[in-house]
Amino acid sequence: MKTTTLINKEDKLVVLTGAGISAESGIKTFRDSDGLWENHSIEDVATPSAFTRDPSLVWDFYAARYNQILEVKPNPGHYALKQLEDHLGDNFLLITQNIDGLHRLAGSKNVLEMHGSIDKCYCNKCEKTISTADVIAHRPASNSKTERYPSILKNKHQWFKCSKCSGLNRPDIIWFGEIPYHLDEIIARLRECTIFLVAGTSGVVYPAAQFLLMAKQHGAKTIGINLDAPMNVDFIEEFHQGKSGDILPSLVKKWIE
Ligand code: NAD
Ligand code: ZN
Repeated sequence: MKTTTLINKEDKLVVLTGAGISAESGIKTFRDSDGLWENHSIEDVATPSAFTRDPSLVWDFYAARYNQILEVKPNPGHYALKQLEDHLGDNFLLITQNIDGLHRLAGSKNVLEMHGSIDKCYCNKCEKTISTADVIAHRPASNSKTERYPSILKNKHQWFKCSKCSGLNRPDIIWFGEIPYHLDEIIARLRECTIFLVAGTSGVVYPAAQFLLMAKQHGAKTIGINLDAPMNVDFIEEFHQGKSGDILPSLVKKWIE
């Protein structure tokens, strides 16, 4: 893998990852083909108004995502970034748009999950936090049961009700229209980084799509890895087209040897 970049220990590296880095672990990306996420439109499952309109549908979607993620493992792309962190220490920061927790599972420590995490929930009224595992433990086993017993259907929100108030537990995930986590820290780190690396993101979802340009305008060298050219490819100085699980390990090996 050809790279014109040298990374030394004094460099301040910020990495941004998206759904593409987890694709080789078996988790589908967002815009695989038709703009749908696992056959659902964003409007139906990933907005605050979707949860107000039909919380059961939203929960069916995230319970399926949660159960799927329990089955998957980090891939060589995640592990290569952990190796880079071991090399750079506190000069390394990983920002991810992913909610799957695979970077943490691979051992990465300096990670900001700007869109939250599938393994946590909070009440939409009193904000009491709870693990997704604890919420899902109360989920009725099968939908056929609710169809046969209308009384269960009437109380169909019961299983994800908050234990403290009349609110509903929801996934601790940033939905479209909500403000991402850690933005102040992210912006401060983008201002001072010397290298910005972006992997597996389409460059379509804002504000994350803006980080590349922000870092570049503050003088960082920009490197990108993606299966297809992302929307903001014009701001990437060194672009590697392909799978992050193939490309990242060999690049990282060159950078840290
Ligand atoms: P996206 O789905 O819009 O884009 C994914 C990008 O990854 C595409 O440009 C694609 O070409 C590229 N890609 C696919 N396979 C790849 C591979 N093996 N190696 C490198 N690149 C690959 O994803 P996004 O830009 O992250 O935006 C999606 C939003 O949806 C995010 O906000 C995220 O929170 C959410 N999401 C998360 C997950 C997850 O946690 N794993 C999965 C789907 C969606
Ligand atoms: Zn509550």
